[in-house]
This record gives sequence, C-alpha cells and structure tokens, in this order.
Amino acid sequence: MRKIGILTSGGDAPGMNAAIRAIVRKSIFHGLEVFGLRRGFQGLISNDCFRMHLGSVADIIHRGGTILRTARTPEFMHESGRRAALSTLRANELDALVVIGGDGSFHGADWLTSAGVPTVGIPATIDNDIACTDYCIGFDTAVCNVTDAINKVRDTATSHERVYVIEVMGRTSGHIALFAGLAGGAESILVPELPFDLEHVCQRLHRGVQRGKLHSIILVAEGAGSALSIGEEIKMRTNMETRVTILGHLQRGGTPTAFDRILASRFGAAAVDLLLSGRFGQMVGNVGCELRFSPLAAALAQKKEFPAELYHLAGILSI
Ligand code: ATP
Repeated sequence: MRKIGILTSGGDAPGMNAAIRAIVRKSIFHGLEVFGLRRGFQGLISNDCFRMHLGSVADIIHRGGTILRTARTPEFMHESGRRAALSTLRANELDALVVIGGDGSFHGADWLTSAGVPTVGIPATIDNDIACTDYCIGFDTAVCNVTDAINKVRDTATSHERVYVIEVMGRTSGHIALFAGLAGGAESILVPELPFDLEHVCQRLHRGVQRGKLHSIILVAEGAGSALSIGEEIKMRTNMETRVTILGHLQRGGTPTAFDRILASRFGAAAVDLLLSGRFGQMVGNVGCELRFSPLAAALAQKKEFPAELYHLAGILSI
C-alpha cells in the first residue's frame, strides 16, 4: 500500500471535510501518498485527480460541504463509466480508495471491491440511513440546524398563536424529523417509516389548545407526504391558522457540529487503518462510543432500524 485515493460522493454532508483531513493526515503519518478525486465517481471516470499534502487540508475542519466537491454520476452505473474509472486508478497507480458518501456511494464502493479494487467506505449522509452504524457524518449537524429552525419558528408561532408544519429532508428516512422533533418539542412527527392518522394529529392539536397551548409544531419528513397538502388538510379539519415552512437545503449547510467533526476524524483515521491492515470491502461505523467495521455488502443488504422507542417517547412528551 503506497498510494491511496479519496472521493466524496452523493449529497454533501457537513463533516466530510473533517473526514478528508483525517484521511490525508493519518495516511501521511504512515508514509502513504494521498490523491483527491474531484466530484465523486465523476473524477474517477474523467481522471480528475490531484496530489494532496498536509497543507491541502489546512483550515477545513470547520467548513461544511466538501473541498473535493461531490456529484451524482449515473455513468458509474454503466460498463463504459466503470471501465474508465478502473483505467484512472491504474494510470495514477492508486493502490486503494476511500469512498465517503451515502448508500448509493456505498453501492459504487462495493462494485469497486468486487472488481478487485481495495476500497473502504465512510458513511456520510444527513439522512443517517446506513445500517451497521449508529451515526453517519452530517446527521448531527442537520439535526442541530433543524432544531435551531424550530426554535425560531416557535417564537413566531407563539406570538401569532399558529400551527406550523415544518418539512425536513428525508425521502425514505425519518431520522432527521424524529431527532429534531424530539429535541425541538414538536407536537407531532410524521415519518415515512410509520403510518400516521391525520385525524389523530388534529385531535392532539385540539387537546393542546384546550389546555392553553399558544402554538403547535408538526414536523414532516418529506417522504411522509407533502407539508403543503398536510398543512391545508389540517387547516380544513381544525379551522386553526396554519403555516407551512419547508427548510430545504439550509439543513445541510453551515459549520459541522463538534460531534460530527470528532466522528469524521475517527472514521477517517480508522479507514486508513483498515486499508493498512488489508481489510478491504469494509465500512467504518460506530455503535455507542466504539468503532465498528462491517462488510459494505452486509450494510447494503440491511435496512437501518428506525428507533421506534424514541418515536414513542416523543409522542408521550408532547401530550
Ligand atoms: P445521499 O444519501 O446523500 O443521497 P448517496 O451516496 O446515497 O448520498 P446517490 O446519488 O444515491 O447518493 O449515489 C451517489 C453516486 O453513487 C451515484 O451518482 C452513482 O455514481 C453511484 N452509485 C449509486 N448507486 C450505484 C450502484 N448501484 N452501482 C454503482 N454506483 C452507484
């Protein structure tokens, strides 16, 4: 093992830069050369590759996004793109690759492994929807961003005595909605993993008003339904003044939390350890405070468990 490549792929996640920094510095500490590939698998296909030094990752630990840029690269799912990617690896004599991204990126990393390229994966997605790890890089920052937004919306909701429906990211995953909803004291949390009854949501709103509540916050993961239609429906059924806020991309912007920076630093360093010990086709993860390594294929074969007990708790605390 002499030269390794790094790429970030899929949606950007705050903390990716801290992971890149850890990989570069840990690799150089062990005498390896490191190369960055720009724009995910696109950089592999188009041979957009550059040497990274200690200074290449200076002053990035606190920055959101990814200095390597990221992209969605459908060409990598086809034979011609994959052939070009393999020839870039050969041309630059890269011995191994670290792929930082979500489950789509892990499919790409798993394919590279099956093609004989020593590859390891680092889970980074605000959706937190990868199995075999409690947390993915970026999730904590997204939850903090949404919680901060809930606090702000709460001020105006209380002043005007309104119901606010807040839509957050998560087409197939309700993790952001659940964690931010619990942290922000939402009255109801609607997620794609669990069925919900809007009549029940409206009954809770009425009960809240009866006991003197000045406002209500309903958090909706985008995969649970359109916040605009849900807001309309609530207004129609309850006759309460209802507003809808769609948080969109601001959820994954901004400086990563200390938690994400520490997680990313540990994951990045552990990924280099995996490569040095010849354990390829694995992903780095955490369970509690412990790091855990799991085969990429095993992580991809499982659906991440939804923390139903937290959902239940949020329901009890918002009666
Ligand atoms: P996020 O969770 O933030 O959306 P992601 O990594 O899941 O991140 P995707 O767009 O699903 O984002 O995947 C990123 C890239 O991974 C794709 O553009 C494609 O290049 C590659 N990829 C996805 N699925 C596969 C697959 N089945 N085989 C090979 N490569 C894939």
